[in-house]
Formats: sequence, structure tokens, C-alpha cells
Amino acid sequence: MSINKQQELEKIAEEIERCKVCKVGKSGKAVPGEGNPNAKIVFIGEAPGRTEAATGRPFVGRSGKFLRSLINESGLKEDKVFITSPVKYLPDRGTPSPSDIAHGKIHLEKQLKIINPKIIVLLGSVAVQGVLGEKIPTLKNHGKIIDKDHRKYLLTIHPAAALRFPPLKKLILQDFKKLKSLLS
Ligand code: URA
Repeated sequence: MSINKQQELEKIAEEIERCKVCKVGKSGKAVPGEGNPNAKIVFIGEAPGRTEAATGRPFVGRSGKFLRSLINESGLKEDKVFITSPVKYLPDRGTPSPSDIAHGKIHLEKQLKIINPKIIVLLGSVAVQGVLGEKIPTLKNHGKIIDKDHRKYLLTIHPAAALRFPPLKKLILQDFKKLKSLLS
């Protein structure tokens, strides 16, 4: 079962690597996402940064290290989650366009269908826009749970925002601790 899920996720990763639409206005390696195919939690960010585009791995740069430390600090296990983004390549302009996000969602949706997590954590407003198709300010709504189309979402702040403004770290940690309680 889990081997099949792993293989199915690898197939999607290959699709992303071959996808010509994904590559428009972007550079570097494909960053499909990584983690446990049976993850109960999927974290969704924004788009790869330079370190991610150089390595092909999600959240391995400065904000990625911070995200991974928050996951561990809140008692969750890094190897039990899956980490990805709606946009699978580094956007040349830094910020992904609405069409980048809309296209990336096609691949992301296939990944979510395979993993079928208990909860999806939306890290910041690009993730919210990409997945829910709604503009919801995450600072004001962090910690909020949304049930939509038979899926459960937790809204929180993007770790890069907390790196720029450290008092926000406390808020993300609160949300991650809530996550743990939702799983038990
Ligand atoms: N920020 C994201 O949203 N995703 C990454 O992979 C890295 C930084």
C-alpha cells in the first residue's frame, strides 16, 4: 500500500519534471515536495527559493530550516509529514503569479489525493489562495480550521514572515501544537 503510494508520488514528481507549463518564467530544478507518503499532515508553502531550486528539495533554505525546527519543537516528527508548495519551480520574479499558482494546483491536487492526509497546513496567503481559491489574511486568521470538500485545513503564517518578524514565531508554534492535538 505504502509502496504504491510512494510509486504514485514518484510518477507525479516525474510529471512535474517534464511539465513545460510549470517551467514558464521559472528556473532551477523541479521541487515536487518530499516526505512520508502516508503522512497525516501535509505542509504547503508558497514556491521554492534559490536553495530549493538548486537542490530539488522543498524548504531546505533559511525559512525551510526554520519550518523544520518548528515541526520538531512542537513534538511532530519531520519524517512523518509531507512538505510541498503549490508552485513547483523558482519563479524568476520571486513571487509566483496567479497563473503559476493555478497551474501548480493541478499537480498539488494529485499529490494530495494520493497522500490523503488528515490535515493540510496552509503556510501563508499564497498557500491559502492556491488551495482554497480564497484571499484570507493568515495573520488575522492563523490557527483557524477550515473544513472544505471533505478536507481539513489549518491556516497559519508562512515561516519566512516569522523570520522577518520574530514575535510571529510564538503564533506559529501555537498553531503547530494545536495540530498535534488534532491528530490524537
Ligand atoms: N518557501 C516555500 O514556500 N517553499 C519552499 O520550498 C521554500 C521556501
